[in-house]
Amino acid sequence: MTDVSTARGSLSRVYGAFIDNEFRPASARTFPAIAAASGEHLADIARCGSAEIDDAVASAKAAFPAWKALVPEERAACLNKLADAIEREAARLMMIDTLDIGRGLWETGIDHTIAVQQYRYFAAAALTHEGFGRSIPNGYLVAKREPYGVCGQIIPWNVPAIMAAFKIAPAVAAGNTVVLKPDENASLSTLELGKLIAESFPPGVINIVPGLGEEVGAALTAHPDVTKLAFTGSSEVGRIVSLAGANRLVPVSLELGGKSPNIVFPDVDPTDIDSIVDNTTFAAMYCNGQSCLAGTRLFLHDAIYDDFMQRLTASMSRIRVTDPTSHGPLLGCMVSEKQGRRVQSYIDIGKKDASLATGGSRVEVVGCHAGWFFEPTVFETTNDTRIAQEEIFGPVLSVIRWNDYEQLIHDANNVRYGLASGIYTNNLKVAWDTSDRLQAGNVWINNYFNLAAGSPFGGFKESGIGSEFCHETLNMYTHLKAITVQTQVNPPWFAV
Ligand code: NAD
Repeated sequence: MTDVSTARGSLSRVYGAFIDNEFRPASARTFPAIAAASGEHLADIARCGSAEIDDAVASAKAAFPAWKALVPEERAACLNKLADAIEREAARLMMIDTLDIGRGLWETGIDHTIAVQQYRYFAAAALTHEGFGRSIPNGYLVAKREPYGVCGQIIPWNVPAIMAAFKIAPAVAAGNTVVLKPDENASLSTLELGKLIAESFPPGVINIVPGLGEEVGAALTAHPDVTKLAFTGSSEVGRIVSLAGANRLVPVSLELGGKSPNIVFPDVDPTDIDSIVDNTTFAAMYCNGQSCLAGTRLFLHDAIYDDFMQRLTASMSRIRVTDPTSHGPLLGCMVSEKQGRRVQSYIDIGKKDASLATGGSRVEVVGCHAGWFFEPTVFETTNDTRIAQEEIFGPVLSVIRWNDYEQLIHDANNVRYGLASGIYTNNLKVAWDTSDRLQAGNVWINNYFNLAAGSPFGGFKESGIGSEFCHETLNMYTHLKAITVQTQVNPPWFAV
């Protein structure tokens, strides 16, 4: 385990853009990386703009032909080397993320485990990413998959290690090169990843350009040599990125927000109730509630409602709200003051529009004077309130009572998002029929947050376009080229 001072000491004082396997000196324009909980100044980061994007895209473009020409085994070797390097550095990287974004070490450790799995998964997937073919008269048709070229990728702050892996691993496995923009609230571990990329990949294959969204992000999405865009973040910015892609007619994949239903049926085994309470608590509070997948609308059937609510509020009150550098499961702080104020405003709205079941207050944590910590907060409400409809991205759960199945399905789907969902039942037919009717890219039955590598991850409706995390993702990073070969030239048939 790396302690705070060792992790801090390993950081560079100033980070410039990572281009061609080297860190450029930062220009005069920088922004600070501030520890979310303690408020300490961790490092300065270059506020890059179109000049750095031009250089990074030129580097990725120059690296593309040689990278594309490698056989998948060679690309896989680089991915596995990077996975090994992250494993070696994981204790340090998870502490850096914990300092930077205020999530508990227990969680940032899981992030890096999932990230390593992603690099290894796509190393293996690259070997089986096949085209197809068939015989044709006098010859053969080959449909082969070809990479797009330079991918412009933009990620958010909530799970930086996972987000970087979700983007980089499939893109480079498929033979593309990358210019990645990390989030301004969480750039440190991604920039540190640059140091590991330099020992694993040829120069120019993966470039990292930090800065503000509306500056460097916009320059990346508008660059004429970027031939594929991939974005994770809010639906609002997703629209902007989508329009930038549309302007240049390049493909865009989007992973956006969520307001996911988690449904408990009355037939659940009474001996499972405590575990289901724990599952639904975890679904809402993991990641300090700052997860696109969070199960933030809990639909509880009338018949079990009162008993479940009693146990749920008890379960919430057992969660430790504390310094994120402590060990074990805990609720840390929001990533920034801006996010803290956003969560506070939704709690205030909830106190007016709904009934507060537990929590609802800010918490002071010793030694963490800058952190926006909140009690795990649960409201009893209906599906039409703002707290039930809008993505809060904080430790706030809306509980909705139900007793009519058709109304349940209507309400569960009656939201702009469609990312994830959960169902707890002992009845196979109910589970299957309900999973069929939920408008969500992920349905978890009797579990939540089950992210086995290879499980498609993508949203319906305003939650996104495309699927990451799975073999299919490689198709998203390639186009199909048909090559037909004939052993004989066709006989003359025109103007002979
Ligand atoms: P955000 O949309 O504000 O920012 C995401 C990224 O976009 C950042 O890197 C930001 O700098 C960049 N950006 C901002 N403006 C831009 C512009 N004009 N052009 C190009 N880039 C720009 O989102 P956020 O607040 O960082 O993250 C929270 C959101 O992300 C939530 O809605 C959450 O649900 C979503 N999210 C989705 C997934 C998923 O896989 N579906 C995963 C994590 C987070």
